[in-house]
Amino acid sequence: MSRADSISLLQQLVAFDTTSHLSNLALIDFIVDYLKGFGVESQRVFSENKSKANLYATIGPKDIPGVMLSGHTDVVPVKGQSWDTNPFTVVEKDGALFGRGTADMKGFIAVVLSRVPQMVEADLKTPIHLAFSYDEEIGCVGVRRLLHMMEGLPVKPAMCIIGEPTEMSVGVAHKGKIAARVKVRGVESHSSLPQNGVNAIEYAAELIAYIRRYARQLAQKGPFDSSFETPYSTLQTGVIQGGSAVNIVPNSCEFDFEIRNIPLQNIEELFHKVEAFARDELQPTMRSEHKQSGITIERLSSYPGLLTPANAEIVRFVKKLANQDKVGTIAFGTEGGLFSETLGIPTVVCGPGSIVQAHKPNEYIRVPQLRRAEQMIDRLISSLSIDENA
Ligand SMILES: [Zn+2]
Repeated sequence: MSRADSISLLQQLVAFDTTSHLSNLALIDFIVDYLKGFGVESQRVFSENKSKANLYATIGPKDIPGVMLSGHTDVVPVKGQSWDTNPFTVVEKDGALFGRGTADMKGFIAVVLSRVPQMVEADLKTPIHLAFSYDEEIGCVGVRRLLHMMEGLPVKPAMCIIGEPTEMSVGVAHKGKIAARVKVRGVESHSSLPQNGVNAIEYAAELIAYIRRYARQLAQKGPFDSSFETPYSTLQTGVIQGGSAVNIVPNSCEFDFEIRNIPLQNIEELFHKVEAFARDELQPTMRSEHKQSGITIERLSSYPGLLTPANAEIVRFVKKLANQDKVGTIAFGTEGGLFSETLGIPTVVCGPGSIVQAHKPNEYIRVPQLRRAEQMIDRLISSLSIDENA
């Protein structure tokens, strides 16, 4: 396998359309073959129906905990977005590389892969683990099977760097999130006889108003964490549908809401408060009108927040690698909370590109950002090649 630079690797990675609803296997096969070309064996951790896979590989000694470089291989849809160029062909303009996933986050994966030859040639005393997931963009879904596999590993990574786009600053904390779907079951009736029915939309509206009141209370009374741009936990309703005609009492209404918590507030308590209002306040009233009516709330996805102490060893280490003094919270979620909560692996977020360009048409990453990420990986390789016992 010939060496490849990060830009040509990025071109190849972007050319695989790995929008979350599609398979990522062609891209994973490409990485497996690429790694094999340098003598690196990797493990695919498949989704239940085998249409997608995570990848896990270790370079260096297998019996020592190392540094894990982690990223997701899926990208958000381009559907409905107006792009000036083909989103799956990288186009360079004035030092910026345009294409879906360039910033979020195939740029980081390309940089990591471009340095595999150096990782292999270096006499690594501490290993580097690669962990690439699927279905991150739909709520950190795919990585859970990877976590399950990793729980059984005899040696787990000692720390993790998630290369999501932070413009190479070191992110130590982000909010957690729960997304849920509420199904309100009413009873239909002619609208001239509303007392014979149970109006699902109106009960949904009461619950939505409760969610709104609760969100407003958190915004006004806290608790607060001033390190976040939005320094309190938030709730919002994002999707709703119900009813068929204005002269029919509607028998069903569905809506989706989400909660994002600051790390010092327990997201389960926030969620249970909404559940309790539906179960203990609204549902008894509905049932008194008609026994078959009711409310069910189903979780769509969730991930925990990340809260790595700013004075942790990993923070010092990654600041040095990234040649960066900026440490802070990040506004968006990552798989970091899962690695740190589920496996106890200290985790930070640090990668090239900006989240401002992510998820939008004409997504891009600047070449100097890729260069800075390359330097970070180069410093990582040399720092892990030093024999501390020598
Ligand atoms: Zn991302």
